[in-house]
Amino acid sequence: MTEYSYETHDYDVVVVGAGGAGLRATLGMAEQGLRTACISKVFPTRSHTVAAQGGIAASLGNMGPDSWQWHMYDTVKGSDWLGDTDAMEYLAREAPKAVYELEHYGVPFSRTEEGKIYQRPFGGHTTQYGEGPPVQRTCAAADRTGHAILHTLYGQSLKQKAEFFIEYFAIDLLMSEDGECQGVVCWKLDDGTIHVFNAKMTVLATGGYGRAYFSATSAHTCTGDGGGMVARAGLPLQDMEFVQFHPTGIYGSGCLITEGARGEGGYLTNSEGERFMERYAPTYKDLASRDVVSRCMTMEIREGRGVGADGDHIHLHLNHLPPETLAQRLPGISESARIFAGVDLTKEPIPVLPTVHYNMGGIPTNYWGEVLNPTAEDPDRITPGLMAVGEAGCASVHGANRLGSNSLIDLVVFGRAAAIKAGDVVDPGSATPTTNQASLDKALGRFDGLRYAKGTTSTAELRLEMQKTMQADAAVFRTDRTLAEGCEKMSGVAGKMDDIKVTDRSLVWNSDLMETLELTNLMPNALATIVSAEARKESRGAHAHEDYPDRDDETWRKHSLAWVNGGVKLDYRPVHLNPLLGHNEGGIDLKKIAPKARVY
Ligand SMILES: Cc1cc2nc3c(=O)[nH]c(=O)nc-3n(C[C@H](O)[C@H](O)[C@H](O)COP(=O)(O)OP(=O)(O)OC[C@H]3O[C@@H](n4cnc5c(N)ncnc54)[C@H](O)[C@@H]3O)c2cc1C
Repeated sequence: MTEYSYETHDYDVVVVGAGGAGLRATLGMAEQGLRTACISKVFPTRSHTVAAQGGIAASLGNMGPDSWQWHMYDTVKGSDWLGDTDAMEYLAREAPKAVYELEHYGVPFSRTEEGKIYQRPFGGHTTQYGEGPPVQRTCAAADRTGHAILHTLYGQSLKQKAEFFIEYFAIDLLMSEDGECQGVVCWKLDDGTIHVFNAKMTVLATGGYGRAYFSATSAHTCTGDGGGMVARAGLPLQDMEFVQFHPTGIYGSGCLITEGARGEGGYLTNSEGERFMERYAPTYKDLASRDVVSRCMTMEIREGRGVGADGDHIHLHLNHLPPETLAQRLPGISESARIFAGVDLTKEPIPVLPTVHYNMGGIPTNYWGEVLNPTAEDPDRITPGLMAVGEAGCASVHGANRLGSNSLIDLVVFGRAAAIKAGDVVDPGSATPTTNQASLDKALGRFDGLRYAKGTTSTAELRLEMQKTMQADAAVFRTDRTLAEGCEKMSGVAGKMDDIKVTDRSLVWNSDLMETLELTNLMPNALATIVSAEARKESRGAHAHEDYPDRDDETWRKHSLAWVNGGVKLDYRPVHLNPLLGHNEGGIDLKKIAPKARVY
């Protein structure tokens, strides 16, 4: 093996990731005087959070009555009763504070006439514990909320003297012999140097793993690197079978076409030109709920009625609508269709596909962001020195299904919680852990092995095979047969990692090697997803199983845990059912959130 020299950096806290979650954690740590490094493989403001448009949920009540208890109820119901009660309470209760803090940091929220933060309605957000009319709870900065938050948090973090290591790729966690996290080892992409970060606390804020699928609305950088690192450290991933799909991503690029397109009268057709949604959902047709439309589209494709050379997608028609309507109401998507599908939507249909939009599962944590290493005796045992926040983590507030605008609030509430906890447990006066040589050697050995990989399968080929398998067998349509087949296929695909071919041996801007490292991270995420899905014999939230159409709380109201190391080992941990505040202390009435059918 090549001898790698490296530079060592000592910090109180190292945050990996500079999206909304990573930056909120970084800012909170630095504000308390902790020496904080934030590492990102892309420039901070290019993280996927920048693409979030709709907004951020908090019960400010600026547009009408609202309460954190109602927000909590909606989140519990949205999660299909799989979320952890304490974490969901913490989210809903702390949300207003977290949003006002963002306002004071300088996020340019849209305003009401009286100058308050503007809030818009979003799916699943209601009043009176689901009995009242929809609520306007989603705080927005026009249709650029994520963009506004990210830029503000980056500026504030610089002001607090957090140190940024930009275009550094985190390869692996550094773990002590007895399972404590002591930092992370990174590769600096622009000059090829290796950097060891020793830290008293390491925070993974690496985002989702949408790119395990062929079609995803998320950035190409969303490769589940945190999940990969955690799996290699021998820790489990939680609830990975729950993946949220949006019906209309542009075929190939995955770029999102808003639901508004069908709202304006757009409709879907199959290869026979049939408006098939009329058959499945006679009343709401193309405007049935997201998961229903996605499932019907997938069924058409599976039964051989997909469009295109490979019969693997569906057409979305807007060309029957007056061009003025399109120009006025849907200017953004007219542009997206032209750029990403080469389609003039006044004349031709847009090729679309149900597209991965969000990962509910991730690295299991408590509501302080501390990473769990559960055992049968202690399902809430923590991993010292390690936290996870944002889409990479699973606290779990979204359970089996996330409500719109509940992710941005998750980023800031739990980024902030992680900082509060670190303020408690990290002692700035104590010594930084020294590098565990065995752990470092293992990480660099893996890196070197991939750098000189001499197999016959290119990274791009194998990645595509994984993405197509996941899209076909672990997407919206799930049966015992497709999932069992999918598990077998994915185990074959993962096996080909041993035959990977990397052609560029250099260390400077080697995108071939970087994409290979990312593939080694996507793979455990993908395996955990399909194996956990195969095992779960019920339908809950995003996991709709054709052979088991009902939710089964008796057997399945529990979190899946998947340890991926070569094969996949599954186990389960109980859902937290207890709130933080008792009803007599102003907390929620538990009777209100007792499980029932999830109908809207
Ligand atoms: C198109 C789109 C629209 C959305 N709209 C909304 C919305 O309106 N409201 C809402 O609530 N949610 C929305 N979501 C969901 C929400 O935006 C995401 O869940 C959230 O932004 C994820 O933030 P994050 O901080 O966890 O990760 P990200 O923003 O994805 O950031 C990940 C960070 O980790 C870094 N990183 C990753 N791996 C490594 C590594 N190996 N080494 C170093 N750095 C690494 C990256 O550089 C990046 O800085 C939307 C999502 C998409 C895709």
